[in-house]
Amino acid sequence: MPGLMQDWPLTLDRILEHARRWHGGREVVTRLNDGPITRSTYSTIYDRAKQLSHALAEHGIAREDRVATLAFNSARHLEAWYGIMGIGAVCHTLNPRLPIEQLVYIVNHAADRLILADAICVPLLRQILPRCHSVERVVLLAEEAQMPTDLAADAYERWIAGRPTDAVWGDFSEETAAGLCYTSGTTGEPKGVLYSHRSNYLHGLTTLMPDVLDISGRDVVLAIVPMFHANAWGLAFAVPAVGAKFVLPGAKLDGASVFELMESEGVTFSAGVPTVWQGLMQHLETHRVRPTTLKCIVSGGSACPEALMRAYQDKYGIEVRHGWGMTEMSPIGTLNVPPDLATPAVKQGRVLCGIDMKLTDDDGRPVPHDGHSFGHLWVRGASVARAYYRRETENILDAAGYFDTGDIATIDATGILQITDRAKDVIKSGGEWISSIDIENAAVAHPKAALAAVIGVPDAKWGERPLLIVQLKPGESATAQEFLEFLEGRIARWWMPTAVRFVEAIPLGGTGKIDKKLLRAGMPAS
Ligand code: AMP
Repeated sequence: MPGLMQDWPLTLDRILEHARRWHGGREVVTRLNDGPITRSTYSTIYDRAKQLSHALAEHGIAREDRVATLAFNSARHLEAWYGIMGIGAVCHTLNPRLPIEQLVYIVNHAADRLILADAICVPLLRQILPRCHSVERVVLLAEEAQMPTDLAADAYERWIAGRPTDAVWGDFSEETAAGLCYTSGTTGEPKGVLYSHRSNYLHGLTTLMPDVLDISGRDVVLAIVPMFHANAWGLAFAVPAVGAKFVLPGAKLDGASVFELMESEGVTFSAGVPTVWQGLMQHLETHRVRPTTLKCIVSGGSACPEALMRAYQDKYGIEVRHGWGMTEMSPIGTLNVPPDLATPAVKQGRVLCGIDMKLTDDDGRPVPHDGHSFGHLWVRGASVARAYYRRETENILDAAGYFDTGDIATIDATGILQITDRAKDVIKSGGEWISSIDIENAAVAHPKAALAAVIGVPDAKWGERPLLIVQLKPGESATAQEFLEFLEGRIARWWMPTAVRFVEAIPLGGTGKIDKKLLRAGMPAS
């Protein structure tokens, strides 16, 4: 027997409609890529997103058509998301930091009809467009005066100006595709994750819970995580849903720029990858300054070093929440809230309501939740992918509907998950697994270390042994012995790296994570 409740599809346009009606005057602040601050409101963003929908429809964009964005976080980019998704088209976020070959592959694979891009991405567009044959038009998220003369493109401001604000949004099933985001493709071709309105809506609401992001209408949220990185961790839906002030920082994410924006806008909450938090910490320490309004940061995307969490919590009183997730999960899977400021949330936390997870051994047998036993991590739920875009016939789930995350983890008796490695990064020594993440965390706590990475190297006796690679802080010098002594007592004895190598810069991938594939290939030279 069906329930007797109203038919109210969970489509994302309703979130911005809600923000416009009940938080219409709340500010959305952007620092443009070239520096200036611009101010908008949810009400204005709504109207302009509708104007964009009108322009898209006039161009012939219909439901299911892919429209790409190649842009950093800004109010215009937010308008683009809602303007595209509102009419049932698919918003495909392109990461400007990806290698050219991957970008070309992704645009062609998705058959994007339009690209809405930041002006600073013009050099990139010049390189990819001649090989992207599905693209009919490029619109630069800019004023007419900023348009380059050597690229055939429309200016966004001119394109939407004077158009009606009454485009029809929604009016389709909540299962309709809304967004498309390709995985980084570190193994094989990038794969497209196709979010639905329903999956993003539910994920956005779930992340607002107190033990997840705990964002409220009183917050000022700085979204450092880019809108092209794993669905912006759901912030573009969660933040307007509660009417929090939204601060969008553009491309400048160095410590000084982040700090300045936090102070000038009164930011209370922010989310980003550990490298950004490392950069901000260096700025705070070098310039002896303190954030005055910031209360909480969320770190995710790769393991957050304990030393960094301690520094934020002990010295600055800023709570560090530690999240784990992946593009295929919309993306948040677990979140760890520290019980108090004296206790860092080193592990990745408890699974969100609406997601189910399990740990298995290599043969698919359950692994105990004892906090020690490593296993393959599997997930299922309403915000987890069931297939990749245009690879729908490939089965990516097990018989019970679980998706293999490719991560190796432990779960303790209280249900708290700890990621020990990517399955492909795990080091197997004498038949036992060594966690590269644990060694990295211990090594980066050395006062001279800026970044640390651990990879497995072949070993005649043990099969594989850990190699520690260290990027020192500017101006520092150190010996291998210094680091090995520092690790003593901090990690199990048999995990001790066989060698330490110092490098100028540890390579980072397009989303700010350490690129272990490059490191394994012998890059960069020491
Ligand atoms: P992506 O889809 O690019 O967001 O990458 C997802 C992968 O990043 C996960 O499968 C993990 O391997 C890794 N990851 C994300 N968050 C964390 C975290 N907090 N600690 C360790 N690894 C993480």
